[in-house]
Amino acid sequence: MFDYKALLSEIRKVYISDRMPWIIGYSGGKDSTVVLQMVFYALSGLSKTKLSKEIHVVSSDTLVENPAIIEHLKKQLKNIEKFGRQELFKHKPNLFNVALVKPKLEDTFWVNLIGKGYPSPNRWFRWCTERMKINPTSNYILDMVGKHGKVVILLGTRKAESANRASSMNNYKGTGLLRKHKLPKAFVYAPIADLSNNEVWAYLLQCPNQWDGSNKTLLGRYKNACSGGECPFVIETGTQSCGKSRFGCWVCTVVDRDKSMEHFVQNGHKWMEELLYFRNWLYNIRKQTHQYVPNCLKSGGVKFGPFLLKTRYEILKKLLKMQKDLPIELINSDEVEHIKNLLREESKGRIEQGMRRFIFRLPSRKRIAVISDFNSLLTPRKRIGPLFLKEAKLIASQNVTQNYLKSKRVMYYEVHSGQSKTRG
Ligand code: SF4
Repeated sequence: MFDYKALLSEIRKVYISDRMPWIIGYSGGKDSTVVLQMVFYALSGLSKTKLSKEIHVVSSDTLVENPAIIEHLKKQLKNIEKFGRQELFKHKPNLFNVALVKPKLEDTFWVNLIGKGYPSPNRWFRWCTERMKINPTSNYILDMVGKHGKVVILLGTRKAESANRASSMNNYKGTGLLRKHKLPKAFVYAPIADLSNNEVWAYLLQCPNQWDGSNKTLLGRYKNACSGGECPFVIETGTQSCGKSRFGCWVCTVVDRDKSMEHFVQNGHKWMEELLYFRNWLYNIRKQTHQYVPNCLKSGGVKFGPFLLKTRYEILKKLLKMQKDLPIELINSDEVEHIKNLLREESKGRIEQGMRRFIFRLPSRKRIAVISDFNSLLTPRKRIGPLFLKEAKLIASQNVTQNYLKSKRVMYYEVHSGQSKTRG
């Protein structure tokens, strides 16, 4: 077992050594629980005069968190705030703050997936972590830097988590206990960097946390969530993929299977089954090329663009239908309104669903038909497949027949006198 007393005295020493407020990243997982708990024990040993700089406990809510996990996290935060303000900082409650940061409206999962057509994220195009986790936290940190000049961020990162983590932690710039974070005027303190997994569990089992009275609920969560890595408090790119963690977003398509949610379903959360089907559907359509606008042809294949409007309307419809029958909110009204505006704007209000046919005449005098579910004249790239629309002249635009609605992808083909040959 590690030298518990030495670590508590180190935490106290770091706290009183300067005026920089502390921002403690709390994900509700075991590592950040150990950090928060140890900080509370360490600071309880300080006199009121020394307990004089701000503490901020910050968690993030992507708005698509696993419902059981976010509910638990919110409860914990309430209890943490109560303990911090009414016990530890009873003499000056304003020094203790708890925050649950969220992505901006334009950065939420649904606005990007449905409103902008970003394909469901995968390992190669993981557009979500930065928008939904890193940016909201960075903004909070930068606000604090603006207010106080400098800040210290406390993280539960440990070298034993992975070889990658160990080597990146060994590369941290700076000497002493603080390392420089890439955000300006922010420093990182990782008090449990050298603890092993066993030491973390042994500590949590032997030592109760102060806000909940025990760590039983935390243990229960890990039992429920089966195998997988810790879901870290993510504040920079390069951190272990949160998509591979036990407690990621319920919509996460970065993992092939959401074993954690499967486990929740098996353990009595039957209603989550619907979420699981929906996530699996999002995962599958990610792989179906006919759900995308092919926005340019590369030698050897098509490079795909965003999801088709048709696909995006379908996602929204399914999501709202599912939400009606569930006891929780899956998408909020601001998101729905913003998404509808984006879809309306993109389709110019003319195309609710289905596809439209545009006939162009190219400079070579060839006539080309483009079948697409958005107004191809408005594409910012002015190009569909190999067609440069700048050079083409629109001859006609019309809604296509039922047959074309069954088409497997956006098509373009040369129009021969009365006959046509599909190429796309
Ligand atoms: S858990 Fe998955 S969906 Fe959520 S931010 Fe991480 S990678 Fe993206």
